[in-house]
Amino acid sequence: MKKLIFASNNQYKAAEIKAILGDEFSIQTMEEAGICIDIPEPFLTLEENAREKSLTIFRITGLDCFSEDSGLEVEALNGAPGVHSARYAGLPSDSIANNNKLIEALNGIENRRARFRTVISLILKGKEFQFEGVCSGQISENYAGDAGFGYDPLFIPEGDSRTFAEMTMLEKSGISHRKKAMDKMTRFLIQKTDEGAL
Ligand code: IMP
Repeated sequence: MKKLIFASNNQYKAAEIKAILGDEFSIQTMEEAGICIDIPEPFLTLEENAREKSLTIFRITGLDCFSEDSGLEVEALNGAPGVHSARYAGLPSDSIANNNKLIEALNGIENRRARFRTVISLILKGKEFQFEGVCSGQISENYAGDAGFGYDPLFIPEGDSRTFAEMTMLEKSGISHRKKAMDKMTRFLIQKTDEGAL
């Protein structure tokens, strides 16, 4: 079984990713791998921040690993909060304050289109590969649901009338931005395994 370290301390994301990957790969969070650091996200793109996280873990462990960086991009706000999603309302990161700020920013605006975007950075034998996943939808006028994390209570994915926070983890992880990026990475890993490269 292929082993990978997931360069994150976000337990919710780790649970989602383990649910997506199933039994094919064994995922260790940083905590499970005994790495207790907070990796900064200093860059202005998801791509650079994801690379920074995976390279940091690779430099420490020398092992195959991956990271992901995600953000919510709102059309009427020119892509904000985007790469700043976690700290939209300032630091320390506070989901309720972020959601309140988003509701305020969209007050009276008809265009509610938004998308979540994930970039995964995979380091395999020291070489980096990136995979993108996008989930389009709408920002709801009101909070709904108490599952999930971050902007889940405000995000209604295309093709559904519920927010992510009204879905089970399995339902969300079947259609999410993270799922789409993870599927691309999984296909890539399976191909590499079939080629005998892993
Ligand atoms: P990061 O990838 O940990 O930097 O995440 C950035 C921020 O985007 C998170 O703190 C959340 O606010 C938001 N976010 C990313 N993915 C999701 C999601 O699946 N649901 C809700 N919010 C998310």
